[in-house]
Order: sequence, then structure tokens, then C-alpha cells
Amino acid sequence: MIPYLSRLKLLEQERSTVTKKKVDLKRLMTLAKSERLFIFLGTVFLLASSATQIVIPYYFGKIVDDALKFQSMRLVNISVLILFGVNCAGALASFFRSWLFGLAGQRVVFRLRQNIFDAITKQEVAFFDDTRTGELTNRLSSDTQVLQNALTVNISMLLRFVLQILGSLAVMFYLEVTLTLVLMVVVPIIVLVARQYGTIVQKLRKKFQDELAAAGTTAEESISNIRTVRIFGAEKKVSNQYYENLLKTYGIGKKLALSDATFMGLIGLLTAGGISVVLWYGAKLVHDQKLTAGLLASFLMYMLQVAIAFGMLASLFGDFMQAVGASERIFDLLDRKPKITSETTADCSIRPTDFDGNVKVQNVCFTYPTRSDQQVLRDVSFEIKSGQKVALVGPSGGGKSTIASLIERFYDPDSGTILFNSHPLTSIDPEWLRTNVSFVNQEPSLFACSIRDNITFGLRRTDISLEEIQSVAKQANAHDFIEEFENKYDTLVGERGVRLSGGQRQRIAIARALLMSPKLLLLDEATSALDAESEHLVQEAIERAMINRTVLVIAHRLSTVRNADLVIVIEHGTIAEQGTHDTLLAKDDGIYKKLVLRQLMTGNDSITLI
Ligand code: ADP
Repeated sequence: MIPYLSRLKLLEQERSTVTKKKVDLKRLMTLAKSERLFIFLGTVFLLASSATQIVIPYYFGKIVDDALKFQSMRLVNISVLILFGVNCAGALASFFRSWLFGLAGQRVVFRLRQNIFDAITKQEVAFFDDTRTGELTNRLSSDTQVLQNALTVNISMLLRFVLQILGSLAVMFYLEVTLTLVLMVVVPIIVLVARQYGTIVQKLRKKFQDELAAAGTTAEESISNIRTVRIFGAEKKVSNQYYENLLKTYGIGKKLALSDATFMGLIGLLTAGGISVVLWYGAKLVHDQKLTAGLLASFLMYMLQVAIAFGMLASLFGDFMQAVGASERIFDLLDRKPKITSETTADCSIRPTDFDGNVKVQNVCFTYPTRSDQQVLRDVSFEIKSGQKVALVGPSGGGKSTIASLIERFYDPDSGTILFNSHPLTSIDPEWLRTNVSFVNQEPSLFACSIRDNITFGLRRTDISLEEIQSVAKQANAHDFIEEFENKYDTLVGERGVRLSGGQRQRIAIARALLMSPKLLLLDEATSALDAESEHLVQEAIERAMINRTVLVIAHRLSTVRNADLVIVIEHGTIAEQGTHDTLLAKDDGIYKKLVLRQLMTGNDSITLI
């Protein structure tokens, strides 16, 4: 037995999901609000086409009766002509109805996709640590498609069938009351069956969409990492993973197919039963000369229309339920407020025009939201003075990149503050931050466009000259190799820059950062993976980029550290030591000293590993 309180809670939950669904359905409709004109006109044509549907069986019966009277063909001719005219008008109205609703749907989804995309790109970085890309792209493609169908095709069909049922029933009552009443016995049974079916199918469809999204995510991950898949010969492995995902969708798909078929079968059976009873009773009325043959024919046509409309409504019902599920996920995403804004807000509006690169990190503690049990930074404090080169060194996993991420405001510290010329980072306009602080990653990601577009990626203005681009490319040691390409700055770099070497990608990324002329440059020095020549060129570009600029570099090379104004040794999330290269070397038993000695012994220029 469920205790009373838990039962109350369950009831509460049930109620809240019901209201949520209602709210979602209402919001779903409000999405179409801005297409009022199209939908209004579409509805006018819908009414017209439905009206023709209701008139057609009446004339059909009339033609039969006129023909049976054997008087003259004149009446028959007139009725056939009217029927033809009505049919033509119906076809024309159907064309406009379908076109207008279709157009409204395209427009709604066009806007919706844009809004979802904006909502996704505005989320804070931590959101992406926790959400898989495939899931988000699925929202954009599959869920929006489901909504488009629901909002337009389905709404238009729904209205059409409801009108068809109501109109047909009204005429049927008018034509023959008792016969309609006989038929009406079947209708509530159909409604009951449809309701039952709806609840089963809604759950199944939602599960189906979720599993489909999971399969999509697996596929997307494998395809975008195809090189790694190939290196490890993991085609079979990822294929099996995808197969497992597909198997789940197939499992639900099977259930869906069975429930669809059962439902259709049941409706068919009920309809057949209803038709048989009505046919028998109708034939008896004709036999007793209480009804003409033509009227019976009209009646049967109306009945068929009602039956078909009920059948179609049932399948629309399933689609609608799927749309409610899809809209739930879409609205969750649209409603999600980023924890760190990427836009100018009242709280984040300071644009420190006096900023000269001075950054104070004060007592910062930080834990990644996705790994709440591991504190990554503990009480970290240091200062980057204007014009200084500050090097972060220490073992891998110590927290160096995390510090850079916090200065970029990818994340906010749990406690402590970061000040830009005495302004808290949390109050600074993100737009200003992005144009004054630049970050060059170890593995920079490029976009599948031209070299020129990659270099100008961060730029807000569009009036950039080729000379300006060439100038930064020269500083970044990129100009020469770009000039060697046939299309020079218009060369396409391929997805994530695959058509370039690692060193070339890095030099483009340096040029991209330099074009922003940032007041503060964050650099993650490449560890290895480059050939000696490329490494030299990248290193030279980095050194050039540092000139006359405040720089925080995650350093892996002794040469870089030696020239730094301040060296900060990060170990296990805390500052183990800080000072200049010389002062730290002078320390007996210092960590830095150990790192350098070890590195000198191996003759390696890298000091990452201890
Ligand atoms: P370093 O740059 O010194 O090599 P990082 O700052 O990259 O070190 O990493 C510090 C710690 O934070 C590591 O234990 C790492 O596993 C963890 N970490 C890094 N990025 C994330 C993330 N996005 N989510 C969760 N943990 C992370």
C-alpha cells in the first residue's frame, strides 16, 4: 500500500504533468500566433473545402433519386454539373488550405530553429560539458520537424476532419434521425478506444524520440571522430554501439507498429459493424418505402466520411502527442537561462576602458559543475601586471587550463574573485571581454570555411582589408604557406581545419587572435606533435604575439618560462611556488628547480611532466 502522503505526492505530480502538458499545448499554439494571417486565410479555405465535402454526398443521392425517377435527364444533368462545380471549388480550396498552412508551418519552424540555435549558443560552457552535441542537433532537426507537422499539416487536418464529422452528422440527422441515432451508438466506443490508444502511443512515441536522439548522438560522435575510429580499427565497435541504440528504437517501433495496427483494426471492426447495422436498417427503411434509395446512398457516403475522418483523427492524435513530447524538450531548451550570460546585461555591463591587462586572481576556489566531488582549484591568488608575461607551469592535470578558462569566464569560481583593473569579472560586459581577451588553444579548432574567414572569425567589423589580414598572418608566420596555396586566403580548410597541418592550424589560430589586438592574450603553448620546422615557426609566432602585450601563458617550454616576468607553479590545484625563473631556481628543494633540473638532464625543452 502506498502511504497517504506519498499518494498525495503522486497525485500532485500527476496533476502537475497534466497542467504542464496543457501549458505546452497552449504554447505550441502560440508559436503559430505570428502566422495569424496565413492561418486565418487557410482556415477560410478549410471551411470552404469542408463545406464542399458536406454538399457532395447530398447531390450524389439527389442524382441517384433523379435518375431513378426516369422522368428526364435534365435534373440529373444539372445536379452533375453542380456536383462537378462543387468538386472543383473544393479542390481549389484544398489547394489554398494546404499551401497556406504549409507556408505558415515553414515560417514557424524557420523562426523556431533560429531561436533554438540562439538559445543553445548562449548557454554557458558548463552546459556543454553536460549535454551531448547530437542531442542538441536533434532538437534542431527532428523535434522541430515533428512540431512543424503538428502545427500545420496536423492542425489543418484536425480542423478539417472535426468539421467533416460535425457537418456530416448534422446533415445525417437532418436526412434520417433514427438511422443516425443507430450510428451514434458506435461513436462513443470509437472515442473511448481512441483515448486509450492515445495514452499508450504518447508514451511510446516520446520514448521512441528519446532513443532516436541517443542513436543520433552515437552516430554523430562516431562520424565526427572518424579518424580516431579508423586508427583503432573501431568501426565494428561503433557499429555495434549504434546497433544497440537502433535496437532500442526498433523495440519501441515494434510496439508502436502493433498498437497502431491494433487500433486501426479495432476502428475498422467498429466501422464495419456500424456500417453493416446502418446498411441493414437503411435497406429495411428503403424496403418499407420510408426512405428513397438516393437518400440511403447519401447517408452511406456521409457515414463513410465520418468513419474515415475518425480513423484519420486517431492517427493525428498520435502525431499530436508526439509533438507535445517534442515541444516539452524544445521549450525546456528555449526557457533555459544561461548561468553565465554571453550578452550585455544590467549586471554585466562594465566596459573598463582603462583596462591595461592587469588581472588579479584572488582566493579562487573552483569545482567543475559536472564533477562536484573534485575541487580543481583551491585558494589560488596571483596578479598579472600590465605588460607582464606570466607563465603557468606544473604537472598535467594541475589546473592550469582551468585558470585560463576562469579568466575567459567560461566558468565562475565557487569562491574568490577575479578582477580586471579592479572591476570584478562577473560585472564586465561579455561582449567587451571577448574583444579584449583572446585565447589561443593547444589544439585550435577552425571552421569549414576559407582561411580569410577563419582569421576574421572574431572580428565585429566587416570592413577589414586583405592587407590587415596579411599583416597578422605574417606576424603569425602563416602568410608564406597561405600564399603557396592555389586559392591563397580563399583556400577552404575543411571541417575543423583537417586540410591543414597541426602547425598551420596553430599559426592561423594565432593570426585569428592577433587580429583582435587583445589587451590580454591567453596562450596554451603546444606541447609536441609538431615537427621541428613547424614547431620553430609556431614558437616564433607565439613569441612575436607576446611582444607589447600582457600575456598569460600555459608554458611547456623552458625557453618561454625563462623569459617570463612571473612563473607560477600549479600543482594539485594550488600555487606551489611563484616568482621569477631565477628566484625559483635559487630556492633549495623547490619544485620548479626539480622540474628544470630534470628537464635539463633529459635535454628536453618540455617541463610539463614531473
Ligand atoms: P592542466 O591544464 O594543468 O593540465 P586542467 O586545468 O586541464 O589541468 O585540469 C585540472 C583538473 O580538472 C583535471 O583533473 C581535469 O580532469 C579536470 N577537468 C578539466 N576540464 C574539465 C571539465 N570540463 N569538466 C570536468 N573536469 C575537468
